[in-house]
Amino acid sequence: MLALRKTSPEPGLDFAEVPEPIPQPGEVLVEVEAAGICGTDVHIADWTAGYASMTSAMPVTIGHEFAGRIVELGEDARGVAVGQRVTVRPSTVCGHCAACTAGDPDGCTHRRGIGIGRDGAFAALVRVPAANCVPVPDGMAAELAAMTEPLSVSMHAVDLAAVKPGQRVLVLGPGPIGLGIALFATAAGAEVVLAGVHDEARLTTARAVCDGTAIDLAGADLPNALAAAGQDKPFDAVIEAAGATAAIEGGLRQLRRGGTLVVAGIHARPAPIDLTQLVRMEQSIYGAYRAPVTDWSRVIAFMQRHQDRIQAMITHRLSLADAKEGFVLLRSRAASKVILRA
Ligand SMILES: [Zn+2]
Ligand SMILES: [Zn+2]
Repeated sequence: MLALRKTSPEPGLDFAEVPEPIPQPGEVLVEVEAAGICGTDVHIADWTAGYASMTSAMPVTIGHEFAGRIVELGEDARGVAVGQRVTVRPSTVCGHCAACTAGDPDGCTHRRGIGIGRDGAFAALVRVPAANCVPVPDGMAAELAAMTEPLSVSMHAVDLAAVKPGQRVLVLGPGPIGLGIALFATAAGAEVVLAGVHDEARLTTARAVCDGTAIDLAGADLPNALAAAGQDKPFDAVIEAAGATAAIEGGLRQLRRGGTLVVAGIHARPAPIDLTQLVRMEQSIYGAYRAPVTDWSRVIAFMQRHQDRIQAMITHRLSLADAKEGFVLLRSRAASKVILRA
């Protein structure tokens, strides 16, 4: 079968013909119906800093946001059935460390990500632990179900910000994670402002997906652009999903006393922060990375209620063979979410 792989620790991805995987004990084989290209996949392709730990897994098929159908069960694969439609939590646990044996899989210290540390979904078939399969409700399209993973990241970021009704939330970065954050924050009762920098195509998608104000900073700085949009009051929470270091210090300056900054972007460089200001303003900073296992069913229930909005986040659909075109669209920020379809 055709697979899109990371083969060496340098920029680039390669298509390869690989054997069909065989599910190991406790695993199932999933026929991939839809797989999203994530910002992480672009980082892996471009080999930006922070992914060196993948090297030992190479060559490895990438792709960690996906949904499909179970077509084969390995030995002892429990709680799943052939024919079942599933999306898959990409983070696999070791089952042996102290956290795993204590029944706390979220605390596992030896994780391997499907599509990062073991073969992923940019292929027709992928083997995954049965325990990572999350059932997809009848009537939910595979491309929508493939959005569960990125939306779980968005939900987790909003949970960490502890957004309350009537609060003002500034979201920096209009990619799919930022759009999800805007949706969850709005659902929590907040007034949302979403900002991008020279990002008009994705902001146009944002206006179709989210309520609230979406602004392009373009040449202006953040305080002036917010003032021009009538949004110069401080924010209760700022949630960063841009991966741009300048967004951290800029975002902190928009935060009220006692407010919360949540960082969800992957940053290629350290960010300078005025810590004295942070101390005097008694502000908090959280990092948001992986949602707890229990969030997945909450995300799917949310997606069922907001299918049209989440569908509107998908701007491009391509075949696996054309996947590299999707990476070009994402780098140029012409696309919001690109889905690879079987
Ligand atoms: Zn992702
Ligand atoms: Zn473990």
